[in-house]
Amino acid sequence: MEFCPTCGSFLTPTKSKVGDETVVVFACGKCGYTKQFSGKVAPLRMGKVIQPRRKPSLTVISEEDQKMTTMPTIKVECPKCGNNLVFVWQVQTRGGDEASTQFMRCTKCSHTFREYT
Ligand SMILES: [Zn+2]
Ligand SMILES: [Zn+2]
Repeated sequence: MEFCPTCGSFLTPTKSKVGDETVVVFACGKCGYTKQFSGKVAPLRMGKVIQPRRKPSLTVISEEDQKMTTMPTIKVECPKCGNNLVFVWQVQTRGGDEASTQFMRCTKCSHTFREYT
């Protein structure tokens, strides 16, 4: 917040054009005092690029899908859509005596099923 040094009134920030640049000028509505904003004002001619942006990805991949893509794939036919490639992972049952259950997830339709071994 800025105040007028001559009359103490609140200075209203207003945008003003100086040449090619837009600057912020604080103006006193009471006595007409004006003060140019001393802070950083991004010159418009520098362009809009301030921070490097990440390249927009064509497909939106959720976190879960990103995990899935790190999983190994095997050639097994999906019972739902007939796609011939599935992600595969194994889950050990709690008992420990039983064999681990092999889960598979279709790479195409994401249908998840398990194979009893
Ligand atoms: Zn003033
Ligand atoms: Zn499928």
